[in-house]
Amino acid sequence: MKKQTNVFKFGGASIKDVDGIKNVAGILASRKEERIVIVISASGKTTNHLEDVMNAYFNKQADVREKIEVVRRHHFGLIDGLFEPGDEVYALVNDLFVEIDWIVEEEPKHDYDYIYDQMVSVGELLSTRIVASYLNKIGIPTAWVDARDIIRTDATYRESQILWEDTERLVETTLTPLLDAGKFVITQGFIGSTDDNQTTTLGREGSDFTAAILSYCLDAVKMIIWKDVEGVLTADPRLFKNVQKLSRLSYKEAIEMTYYGASVIHPKTIKPLQNKNIPLYVQSFIDPTIEGTYIGPDVDDHYPPIVVLERNQTLLHIATRDFSFVVEHHMAYLFKTFAELRIFINMMRNTAISFTVCVPDLPEKIEKLKAILDKEYSVTVENDMELITIRHYQEEVLKSLTKGKIVLLEERLRNTVQMVVKNIPLIERI
Ligand code: ADP
Ligand code: ASP
Ligand code: MG
Repeated sequence: MKKQTNVFKFGGASIKDVDGIKNVAGILASRKEERIVIVISASGKTTNHLEDVMNAYFNKQADVREKIEVVRRHHFGLIDGLFEPGDEVYALVNDLFVEIDWIVEEEPKHDYDYIYDQMVSVGELLSTRIVASYLNKIGIPTAWVDARDIIRTDATYRESQILWEDTERLVETTLTPLLDAGKFVITQGFIGSTDDNQTTTLGREGSDFTAAILSYCLDAVKMIIWKDVEGVLTADPRLFKNVQKLSRLSYKEAIEMTYYGASVIHPKTIKPLQNKNIPLYVQSFIDPTIEGTYIGPDVDDHYPPIVVLERNQTLLHIATRDFSFVVEHHMAYLFKTFAELRIFINMMRNTAISFTVCVPDLPEKIEKLKAILDKEYSVTVENDMELITIRHYQEEVLKSLTKGKIVLLEERLRNTVQMVVKNIPLIERI
């Protein structure tokens, strides 16, 4: 019989400080008998800080070293709080900073996305080294595995695609003997490697996806994502009051919610789990005794209204200059151009000669798009939009959400309403 492997994912918030790491160790210590693969993100806001380093380096700013120091101080602060001076973890962490120091010593020779992956991936290498060493120190035998030895990807830097067959083989052959030897396995979320050993990343917030990939490859019995919330809620509690916990969700509802931007789980997480019917639990690392959210098969699709709000959206109005019908002559070209620039369309609508889309506010990409389209199309850009999606909507919820806002675009499908809204400036509210 196949052994019952569990895959756990701990995000940056759970290991943001010394107490957080001790708390995670406590959760694992109470499950010593289980067979567990642990996927870990970078600690706290490290990925953002490494992006700052990357941008400073690439733009040749004078403060690159200071920005590296922010990351260095944070990690040495963690190990000072967890280990005795002289512990071997100091050298392991130091070696990882040497890699960053080497990169910034020379002028940027490669393109941005390639260097980004070499630099930003260090965040997960650091956090996993620290947590794995700490678990071993407190008597929980744990193997540290470099995700670049098991997650194979293509060379689309910053958005790499998984090479599934290679990954399946490598995961099985590398992790199974370690688990069979009675160890926990810790590896990095978010990062992978090409065939020729170049580090890649799977896209921001990609650690959940890594955990789902490993769950799939190992035929896990369950995956748990440990969060600072009690489970999946009807809306982001940072943005809305009176949210409720959803105790059960179907894969379908979870994939829809996350696709529309519910940032509690990465949208790519659900598919590999659904393909093998592996249940996903979202649970609180603050109070592990609280029952979280179960996501899986056999769930009745009856839900309260679920709200997803995405800020920093841009509305683009693209009109043909020669008055030709947009649907007949232009759609394929426009979609191709968006895809090539990797601009993700959140909502769209067309009239006879125009096409309006809501996209994330990415000024550089939008400038490139305008330059490409300029000859044939007039393009107008409206910034500072919000995109609200309501699943299983009720009219009163719609009313309260749009109070004080101008709705610029609205679409109602069977159980989903999407609206692009703008806050009304105070003066117009009088
Ligand atoms: P991690 O450290 O695991 O990466 P994140 O900060 O990315 O964690 O995700 C957890 C946060 O997601 C929560 O603190 C919450 O504010 C936010 N969130 C957004 N939408 C939801 C939702 N529908 N249910 C629960 N949390 C949500
Ligand atoms: N550390 C990466 C990020 O912040 C991946 C993740 O946390 O999931 O995007
Ligand atoms: Mg996250």
